[in-house]
Amino acid sequence: MTQSPISARAPRLRGARALFTGRAGGVSAAPFDSLNLARHVGDDPEAVEANRALLAREIGLPLVFVEQVHSADVLVLRSGGARGEESSIATADALVTDRTDIALAIMVADCVPVLLSDPVAGVIGAAHAGRRGLLGGVLEATAAAMAALGADPARTEAAIGPAVCGRCYEVPEAMQEEAVAALPAARSTTRSGTPALDLPAGAAAALVRAGLAPERIDAGAPCTLEDERWFSYRRSARTGRFVGAIRRAGT
Ligand SMILES: [Zn+2]
Repeated sequence: MTQSPISARAPRLRGARALFTGRAGGVSAAPFDSLNLARHVGDDPEAVEANRALLAREIGLPLVFVEQVHSADVLVLRSGGARGEESSIATADALVTDRTDIALAIMVADCVPVLLSDPVAGVIGAAHAGRRGLLGGVLEATAAAMAALGADPARTEAAIGPAVCGRCYEVPEAMQEEAVAALPAARSTTRSGTPALDLPAGAAAALVRAGLAPERIDAGAPCTLEDERWFSYRRSARTGRFVGAIRRAGT
């Protein structure tokens, strides 16, 4: 299968098609070049809609986005649920569904995008796990919302996408202490020896705490700050957002 330029990283999750977009393959001008998928960052709205249409064509289904606010709230889109619920913008930081007619999208630029699939139950999820969301339990809440649709965390597979790494994400010492009190795995140190947080490691630990098996977690994605194939808010405050997107497979 040839990989479209829209898909910069395509983790294998059984029961789903999952992808992370990068900067390449879209129509936006600098500094949103070129595949910015966020409406709220100051990009030309027509360019954003064109980029979203490219992504929808790539994944083959209409995409559902949410208004992300660093919460632990999950939007649940249940089959047989109210029609049109996916078109009204919800405030949430994760989405889960058992539906076959929509794809889920989470926007990021340094925060951790996490995609999940239980191939037996046919339930998928997507979560935005920044520092605040992780500490607020967004990944545990996502796993619980999937379980309410019949998923079993023990057989759920997850992919942790590109995010700022533990060697790059410098934070004040007090912030580090507060974070590691709740999530010890997030403790890190920058290359220059200052306090840091490793959000991808924290996300993996939170997924294990939610009942996922470590061997079912795809980690090791590139660092957004170091790898210019992805948007990074820490590299440039005026920039675009890429997405983690997921749909059920074989439907
Ligand atoms: Zn890094």
